[in-house]
Amino acid sequence: MIVVMRNDATQQDVEYVIFRAHSLGLETHISRDSGQAIIGLLGDLRGLEPAAFSGLRGVDRVVLSERPFRLASRDFRSRPTIVTIGEVAVGGNEVVIIAGPCAVESREQLLDTAHAVKQAGARLLRGGAFKPRTSPYSFDGLGEEGLRLLAEARAQTGLPVVTEVMSPDQVSVVSQYADVLQVGARNMLNYSLLHAVGASGKPVLLKRGMMSTVFELLMSAEYILSHGNRNVMLCERGIRTFETATRNTLDLNAVPLLREMTHLPVIVDPSHATGKASLVPATSKGAIAAGADGLLLEVHRDPENAFSDGYQSLDHEAFSNLMKDLRRVADAVDRQL
Ligand code: PEP
Ligand code: MN
Repeated sequence: MIVVMRNDATQQDVEYVIFRAHSLGLETHISRDSGQAIIGLLGDLRGLEPAAFSGLRGVDRVVLSERPFRLASRDFRSRPTIVTIGEVAVGGNEVVIIAGPCAVESREQLLDTAHAVKQAGARLLRGGAFKPRTSPYSFDGLGEEGLRLLAEARAQTGLPVVTEVMSPDQVSVVSQYADVLQVGARNMLNYSLLHAVGASGKPVLLKRGMMSTVFELLMSAEYILSHGNRNVMLCERGIRTFETATRNTLDLNAVPLLREMTHLPVIVDPSHATGKASLVPATSKGAIAAGADGLLLEVHRDPENAFSDGYQSLDHEAFSNLMKDLRRVADAVDRQL
């Protein structure tokens, strides 16, 4: 249930609604849409009549949201959420490019690529220090040393850093270095991790699970939002289908669909969606044309010798060429890049 206040409602009116909700054992989440206060009521709403709130002073209307993802829903907030990371705003007019290697492998490797993607126009640097790998024998990241290198790359380039956190006990160390916490596809349903990143207050890039529906993605976002952390970005990274010619199948439907269902920014990751560098340019363009707020792209200075995901990584030159094409697509859909 969502209580929408009138434009001329006073702070006292808002506080009284909150007081009433609390006295009924409910939790509240307040947001403002063009100055209008919107109060989301959370908790056990069974048996609660809208009339319990609709008659209160300053209340414009009570909306019964059927959507279980209340805070993530467009009913709760009609205007897009803009997630601000340093000087970068995700969810506004700019299409934000997040680029960098799959994994931080060494100081030279990271710094080289960080400077190259910055030069080409990326706004955020990605790179995994804690890597979820299919095989327990594969390289699984440099850990805290990788985080230190990411912080050094940020200091040199000015690019804020996006990096994955795999478990609740890593949230504090990753938060010390990172600007955005990435929750990976394999962890989209890890509810203790979702609680922990929610409580951290840090911006979160939440990747869609490879076998998860759009609805489930929004429910996972709801976990993070329920902690009062509004800085959630969703990421479509391909889902598993019967098709085996590509690593995953990019669900481009999800982009305009999510934009209808939620106010949260939507990022697309064509690297993991296709698993093939040659397919990344076309799918990147398609994603921007479909309305994505940003792209997450894997870039490596020497893809053939990358420790992970080399076959889907662009080299520096391919990335820089792609950026030029993406600017033209962004322009065609009235966005900046
Ligand atoms: C990654 O971004 O390198 C990654 C592991 O992605 P995903 O969780 O989507 O597989
Ligand atoms: Mn990867």
